[in-house]
Amino acid sequence: YHAKQRALGWASLKFAPQRDARRSVALEAALHHALELRELELHYQPIVDPAGRVVAAEALLRWYSPALGSVSPDEFIPVAERTGQIIPIGAWVLERACLDGAALQRLVPGLRVAVNVSSKQFGQPQLAPQVRGALGRSGLAPELLTLEITESVLMDQEEAVRRVRELCALGVRLALDDFGTGFSSLQYLRELPIHNVKIDRLFVQTLQDVAGKDAQIVRAIAQLCQVLDLEVTAEGVENAQQAEVCRQLGINLMQGWQFARPMALDTLCAWLQQRPEAEA
Ligand code: C2E
Ligand code: MG
Ligand code: MG
Ligand code: MG
Repeated sequence: YHAKQRALGWASLKFAPQRDARRSVALEAALHHALELRELELHYQPIVDPAGRVVAAEALLRWYSPALGSVSPDEFIPVAERTGQIIPIGAWVLERACLDGAALQRLVPGLRVAVNVSSKQFGQPQLAPQVRGALGRSGLAPELLTLEITESVLMDQEEAVRRVRELCALGVRLALDDFGTGFSSLQYLRELPIHNVKIDRLFVQTLQDVAGKDAQIVRAIAQLCQVLDLEVTAEGVENAQQAEVCRQLGINLMQGWQFARPMALDTLCAWLQQRPEAEA
């Protein structure tokens, strides 16, 4: 119930409007300098296959502001979108994630790195050249970079289709993030060269057995993806039971606290090295 409220964006109702407005002014001002003051950091959350092997890591922004404390990306990304700050921030994220992804190859050859791209970034013709630049400077192979986009990014059809094609021409992979919470048009799956669908954790968190309503939805998405030759990832897998149900429903990849939380790069390196499979 709580998760559904959050997904619908009602969480802000719990703030008093005035306090909310003051915070948003302070946040906007602080965010303006966050990049140059080096307050932003990328954490990485492992993504595993059904056998538990780590195949990818998603880069997730973390912001610690001395004035505001830790601010969740769910709070500051929309602000950065609105002010345009997402453009320099997004460019930094791409650069950093490609460098980190290239460094991680020494620990796990073939490890993919996933980067979230917001709709304003996606609207920019500079995105593809930026991605090409970040790949070139880091030496990361294009097929090891996944760009995660949400359905809202695709609303401006023509521009979005152009961007998707430019990015595919570079050889990077595209994932449709938060699948099931937006408009989830099947047209996107049919027409766009997307590689992966990430089922929103809203549908994953209630999985208890293969018979429930959300299980039927997850199964149907997994089957659809199989037919369309798309990889399907379950987000927000929090316990062993949910992981087992996901396996039984035909999910290819899983991400969630059951496996690992998002971690700073050095913590991720230590985590990767101490796993049993790392010794093999
Ligand atoms: P997302 O891309 O859907 O990322 C998954 C979110 O689920 C992350 O939240 C992650 O920490 C969280 N998560 C992972 N496993 C679990 C779990 O088992 N249970 C629960 N309850 N949550 C889990 P986070 O890091 O707070 O990021 C929130 C959103 O902010 C992301 O959702 C993404 O849309 C956006 N975001 C984060 N970093 C970036 C970025 O670099 N650029 C852009 N444009 N957006 C970003
Ligand atoms: Mg994502
Ligand atoms: Mg998501
Ligand atoms: Mg999300």
